[in-house]
Amino acid sequence: MTEILGLSLLEAGYLVASVTFILGLKMLSSPDKARKGNLIAGYGMGLAIVVTLLFKEELSSDKWLNYTLIIAGLLIGTLIGMRMAVKVKMTAMPQMVSFFNGMGGACAAVISIVEFNHVQHGAAVDTGMMVVIVLGLIIGSVSFAGSMVAYGKLEGKVADKALPAGQMINILLLLAILVVGALMVASAEPQPNLLYILLAISLMYGVLFVMPIGGADMPVVISLLNSFTGVAAAFGGFLYGNQAMLTGGILVGSAGTILTVLMCTAMNRSLTNVIIGSFGGGGSAVRGDGVQGNIKEITATDAAILMAYASKVSVVPGYGLAVAQAQHTVHNLEKLLADKGVDMTYAIHPVAGRMPGHMNVLLAEADVPYPKLLEMEAANDDMSNTDVVLVIGANDVVNPAAENDPSSPIYGMPIVDVLKAKHVIVMKRSMGKGYAGIENELFFHEKNSMLFGDAKDSLEKLISEIKAL
Ligand code: NDP
Repeated sequence: MTEILGLSLLEAGYLVASVTFILGLKMLSSPDKARKGNLIAGYGMGLAIVVTLLFKEELSSDKWLNYTLIIAGLLIGTLIGMRMAVKVKMTAMPQMVSFFNGMGGACAAVISIVEFNHVQHGAAVDTGMMVVIVLGLIIGSVSFAGSMVAYGKLEGKVADKALPAGQMINILLLLAILVVGALMVASAEPQPNLLYILLAISLMYGVLFVMPIGGADMPVVISLLNSFTGVAAAFGGFLYGNQAMLTGGILVGSAGTILTVLMCTAMNRSLTNVIIGSFGGGGSAVRGDGVQGNIKEITATDAAILMAYASKVSVVPGYGLAVAQAQHTVHNLEKLLADKGVDMTYAIHPVAGRMPGHMNVLLAEADVPYPKLLEMEAANDDMSNTDVVLVIGANDVVNPAAENDPSSPIYGMPIVDVLKAKHVIVMKRSMGKGYAGIENELFFHEKNSMLFGDAKDSLEKLISEIKAL
């Protein structure tokens, strides 16, 4: 009777946790509810852990050892995770997401190895279970290795490197993974040697698949790896009959896949190219370094006059806005201009910054009203009616080479079409390049003027000049 009660409470706990994950995810789609949604899903995860510790039958076999290991793991993980999350700078979030994602992939791979060893010591080989173990191992290890390389690249510690015939090697590795995986499933006896060979090839594939991807293409790969980890965790849910893990994994897997497809569309890349790791910089592409011409500088006073007497201003925020932490200052500029009857909106490029939704999160933090944030397509439609575009710390997302230079590594990526507006002002510290490492001919265009300096300092100067008018 108690056993049945325990099992029912366990299942009920998992059900509630699954519902919180779905609710949490739904709430993440609107900036004002996102924080609450995150908390709700977090509580659900906490509940799933508590009911597992209290009611999971298998834990009672070697109670003290099991609980000591689990609690020690929880404490170490919580301390490291909390320390990293508290200390992380907003601009380093993508690295942290990539790192945590890699840890999820590693967990899924370790679960597969542990469960494989359980099969080995006694129980008959169940083909369905072996399929789940093999898939969890492959996807988890690819996700772990790939995420660690992505982490290194975003930290600037790993350079883009393409092996000669890298695409062919990747295809061969994928084939080897399929063959070894199929052999493991078809084999009547568990094959530990094949398990470790599969682990090694999958790790190698993870590294080689992310290694050559560079330039502006990392967002797609990060999102793809994220969906891999979700799928790998869902396989773990199958192995343990754990519905919360299954639902959580499926949600991450499907949300990550949808985001990957959206990113691919935004970057104008095909998913097949992403999977065989064939795109991006790191190679022979001409990086637009031949751009030449004169640049025109503008003073804060002249920029203030242009903006104060405009009727429509569009701000294109980029990574530099996040570096300068100028989100509150730009919101102050927007309010000041509104008092003067100027309509200022923000043109949000889908890959501006260093993580999906980076600019939305940044501007929401400064309480910029959501309707002021226009998606790139809507902003582009409005560009010919815009008097002044203020590009703040953005570079790649406004680089015309994406439209007119087929040799550019970002060729094909849609951009914010700032040149359709009457005047363009670019705020940045120097002529430094953006993430893709290429020159930007926009800076040399006759319609454009450069306002050099840290974005926050320049915005503050602009605000005081406008107030003085
Ligand atoms: P970029 O990386 O192209 O350019 C940022 C610019 O900001 C730099 O040229 C830099 O110039 C300037 N900058 C840096 N610090 C400051 C500061 N304190 N004040 C003023 N300017 C500053 O940014 P974008 O947002 O235009 O493009 C994002 C790029 O990142 C794309 O290539 C995208 O693919 C990639 N990416 C995006 C991810 C995502 O998910 N969104 C993830 C990973 C990569 P200077 O040094 O001269 O000041």
